[in-house]
Amino acid sequence: MSYRVVTVLGVAHRERLGVVQAYRFALDLTPRQERAVLAHAGAARVAHNWALARVKAVMDQRAAERTYGIDEVDLTPTQGWSLPALRRAWNQAKSDVAPWWAECSKEAFNTGLDALARGLKNWSDSRTGKRAGRRVGFPRFKSRRRSTPSVRFTTGAIRVEPDRRHVVLPRLGRLKLHESARKLARRLEAGTARIVSATVRRDGGRWYVAFCVDVDRAARTPHQPQLVVGVDLGVKHLAVLSTGELEPNPRYLDAAARRMRRLARRVCRRVGPDRRTGRRASKRWERARARLGRAHARVAHLRRDGLHKLTTRLAREYGTIVVEDLNVAGMLANRRLARRIADAGFAELRRHLAYKAGWNGGRLVVADRWYPSSKTCSGCGAVKTKLALSERTYTCTTCGLVLDRDVNAARNLAALAAAVAGSGSETRNGRGADRKTPLAGLVAVKRQPGTAKAGNTGTVPPQGRTSDHELTYAS
Ligand SMILES: [Zn+2]
Repeated sequence: MSYRVVTVLGVAHRERLGVVQAYRFALDLTPRQERAVLAHAGAARVAHNWALARVKAVMDQRAAERTYGIDEVDLTPTQGWSLPALRRAWNQAKSDVAPWWAECSKEAFNTGLDALARGLKNWSDSRTGKRAGRRVGFPRFKSRRRSTPSVRFTTGAIRVEPDRRHVVLPRLGRLKLHESARKLARRLEAGTARIVSATVRRDGGRWYVAFCVDVDRAARTPHQPQLVVGVDLGVKHLAVLSTGELEPNPRYLDAAARRMRRLARRVCRRVGPDRRTGRRASKRWERARARLGRAHARVAHLRRDGLHKLTTRLAREYGTIVVEDLNVAGMLANRRLARRIADAGFAELRRHLAYKAGWNGGRLVVADRWYPSSKTCSGCGAVKTKLALSERTYTCTTCGLVLDRDVNAARNLAALAAAVAGSGSETRNGRGADRKTPLAGLVAVKRQPGTAKAGNTGTVPPQGRTSDHELTYAS
């Protein structure tokens, strides 16, 4: 094998599966409720910013004191970065900082302090190399204009009302849902789910409540455990399968995307804010931007819906699903809108498939990013040196195979899975951290020895040496 499989996500066989799952529902808030939620989100921001300022002040103070030659023991005491430490500091200071603190649930302040504690931890882990992936910056102050209003409740009365159209949250009371919460309510009533937390946040001009739920799922097996399917994500189609199926884009997606582009042009024509001259945005610009935000949200929803339906179907049907690894460098380089949306969708598709394969007892195989799935002939295994993006049909000069380009690529991915004999046992997520959620013992096989470390993938150079590779498939 010239190309390696990066990851195999398989499943250990068990009777039941404990997973952490999110259920998100749109809310219909009254103006009064909206003000209450915004007040709580504001309280979260105040606590976050106060604690961040304090952490910074203590750090600066200690640094200054060191330059005066003060002994380590005599320095200003450190401010702990853990959530309990930040909470203690906040509780001592809140009467001075926020005399109105009693008007909001303590969960609001906790939301902000928790976000800060995580931000600080991520920053320090990233700096010391404990956290993989892109460098994490030091936490920044949250602004009322820029940050998304959000508040999370972890204690108190959190429940779905028996009518399934309302939820009850601490302090905010009874909130009307825009849709039925029956999927969650059924599980709660059956006793196979327990709500861990509820987060209210605004997204694309609309309010949502997201429940984080501990779910006890029945273990399943795919309908066709021995079948393998390769999935390639397209721009024109949502996805192309190795079976030759072209999964169409969700209905209305194209229309919604057109509308989004039109509204973006409208925003450009109007008078926006300018930081250099201090110009404030016009009312008409604000309005146009709000509409653009909603259009963006709609496109994202349509796409996500399509992806969910596709990934659920694949995970229920096939025992093994093969996808390609993400081309992160390529994603950053290509600035075209359609391509970017497809790339973002690809990340989501892979994430969906990873957990849904786990739920359904199947496995997900992620092929090396440099595996030439498009350039290889799925019939005879010959590899072309060049294949322009405009060539939509693959024509093999060796064996005469003529096939749709994407179907050919998907077939190569499926064939790759046959060569995989999944073994090994290491469970990690993309950031190098251990998984907290017991996703049914997802087994990730690390790269073979002699390959690059995480974050520096690419065992085969992207260019050159493409024509002399031969793929041999194990049967
Ligand atoms: Zn061929």
